[in-house]
Amino acid sequence: MMAVMDDAKMVTLDGSEGEGGGQMLRSSLSLSLVTGTALRMVNVRAGRSKPGLLRQHLTALRAAAEVSGALVEGAELGSREVTFVPGRVRAGEYTFKVGTAGSATLVMQTVLPALLRAEGVSTLAFEGGTHNPMAPSYDFVARAFLPVVNRMGPTVTSAIERAGFYPAGGGRFTMSVTPARQLARIEIMARGAVLEREVEARVAGLPEGIAKRELVAAKEVLGWEWPCLRTKELPRSEGPGNVVVVTVGCEHATEVFVAIGEKGVAAEAVGAAVAAEAAAWLAAEVPVGEHLADQLLLPMALAGGGRFVTTEPSLHTTTNARVIERFLPVSIGWERRDERSWVVTVAERG
Ligand code: ATP
Repeated sequence: MMAVMDDAKMVTLDGSEGEGGGQMLRSSLSLSLVTGTALRMVNVRAGRSKPGLLRQHLTALRAAAEVSGALVEGAELGSREVTFVPGRVRAGEYTFKVGTAGSATLVMQTVLPALLRAEGVSTLAFEGGTHNPMAPSYDFVARAFLPVVNRMGPTVTSAIERAGFYPAGGGRFTMSVTPARQLARIEIMARGAVLEREVEARVAGLPEGIAKRELVAAKEVLGWEWPCLRTKELPRSEGPGNVVVVTVGCEHATEVFVAIGEKGVAAEAVGAAVAAEAAAWLAAEVPVGEHLADQLLLPMALAGGGRFVTTEPSLHTTTNARVIERFLPVSIGWERRDERSWVVTVAERG
């Protein structure tokens, strides 16, 4: 296969650079799909204690191959070297199953950018974990990420059928993607007035008392009153699982913060941790939080530009930016605005 590849049309990346995690692989697969550029990655996830492809990354790789009829080498669990030669991206009906409790939203993150610009509507289903630590929760995708994507022109709607938690998995959500020929450049410089505040503590197959304790702890940190705080019992079959979701809806942006309950971690600690994250974002007076910042770079780069205000960029975000610059003619920069906020600019490279 490689004998026919022209080097100029292939990007080679060392997965041990920067943060050295799975994001480099997912972002470069998305970029390979949208640019039609082949990708070779060595040292996949070399910075992690279990390097190489885990189930979630393998599902993302296979999903990227499926939507584009790509030729792939190294699509095995534990693989540390991957070659991906994309074909033409095809809109359509797809179901992607992680097969474990691994994050299904991260599989979505990999294929969505290409389908935002494909010719035709796509109907997608994702199965696996919907609420995982260290990954976007379904709530974050639906309330924080997709509304910004939709402001750029496409129409993406989503619905959750079942939540999926570690270790049982079994979650499922669907999406409909109506693409836009060209993504619009947008700026998110201020969040405007806070219009909605909510803390929802959910339990599936666990006592409701856990959720109540989480709310009391969150209330203490945020100082919000009871109408903003509520518990929700999910069907027992979706458990065991517990998640606390803090949503802050503002005029120009919505942020979602999530903490997943874990065995051995007190409910009070879970509620207080997610509330502290939301409180820090509110105090920084920025519209875009750390994770949304990370995830907006790629759509903005596809639009050819964009700008937003956020908190201090993480190593994850800067690594992502460097990967994007390898595939697209953009440069991504940060400028400190004040004590707690930075302006991120995605601009066309001249
Ligand atoms: P590894 O880092 O082990 O290779 P990975 O591929 O699962 O694993 P990362 O490279 O850390 O993970 O990427 C995690 C992704 O999840 C990033 O896109 C990040 O923005 C997003 N993310 C993590 N935590 C949250 C959160 N609380 N809310 C929204 N998004 C999140």
